[in-house]
Amino acid sequence: MPDVSPDISRIRSRLLAWYDAHGRSLPWRAGPGAARTEPYRVWLSEVMLQQTTTPHATPYFHAFTQRWPTVSDLAAAPDAEVMAAWAGLGYYARARNLLACARAVAGDHGGVFPDTEAGLLALPGVGAYTAAAVAAIAFGRAANVVDGNVERVMARLFAVETPVPQARPELRRLAGLFVTDHRPGDWAQALMDLGATVCRPRSPLCGQCPVAEDCAGRAGGSPERYPIKTKKADRPQRRGFAWVLFDGQGRVAVETRPDKGLLGGMLGLPTSDWTRDAPSDAPPLAADWREAGTVEHVFTHFGLTLTVRTATGGAPDGRRWMEIEAARAALPTVFAKALDRGVSGMLLI
Ligand code: SF4
Repeated sequence: MPDVSPDISRIRSRLLAWYDAHGRSLPWRAGPGAARTEPYRVWLSEVMLQQTTTPHATPYFHAFTQRWPTVSDLAAAPDAEVMAAWAGLGYYARARNLLACARAVAGDHGGVFPDTEAGLLALPGVGAYTAAAVAAIAFGRAANVVDGNVERVMARLFAVETPVPQARPELRRLAGLFVTDHRPGDWAQALMDLGATVCRPRSPLCGQCPVAEDCAGRAGGSPERYPIKTKKADRPQRRGFAWVLFDGQGRVAVETRPDKGLLGGMLGLPTSDWTRDAPSDAPPLAADWREAGTVEHVFTHFGLTLTVRTATGGAPDGRRWMEIEAARAALPTVFAKALDRGVSGMLLI
């Protein structure tokens, strides 16, 4: 085992000093040591940043806060507008939870977020991580904010040999050793920044790390092997058909998907079931369908190959026509890809 025993208080003071000098400037942040950030902005950014990179989330954050400057404004927005504005961020259940939470804050709490971790956790769709992040960053509570970045830093600092996911409780306990009433929001953000910019997943920049002296993973010579992972099962693959019907006047047939299930409540194209075996290729609409190729998409739990068929003319039969450009902007990514494939297919005919 590496001969380094991390010194908690030295790590804290070095990392906070580093954050004061090098913390990232992000649109939802008040900045190191500044007055606390508005809870609405912290909550919104944290929900957007789950599974999404900062550069990808940033324009969405600007768009949401310009269009809905307060949580009450967001709560009053029609579902379809919020779902359309979320398109491209993925993980659409989160957009539905976002609205449910905004409406609970507006309806049950007078438009003011609860200021404790427990109060935040009681809101719909708010998990342990988001509750802790908002409590620490917006309200200065000593909350233990643990996401994948923090787990990685802890696994390296302490050279934790147990693989994840079994190591998670231990990594959380280790992260908790650093949490105090002193600058809890800055501490959470300092750890996030270290994980995002220095203690990176594949190639940690240990030469630039403010806590390198206290890092057992680095002392062992291969910090990038932490956190140790159990081998993952391969992602299953599904197949399906998407039906892209144009009206010949720049519009495409779209539908609102059922509330329950994958991409629930979102705008969609007519599609078959997505199955591991042979999906039905029976067209949902009568038209002169032609094959336009396939598109690939990766969801959290499976990969999808969609065969795109396209036609012009006919009735949308319960669906509605929408301008192609507007549809491209509002459709979830998988359907936007199918639409693009359908458009290219039509150009080739
Ligand atoms: Fe991560 Fe390297 Fe810093 Fe250790 S020394 S915390 S592995 S960047």
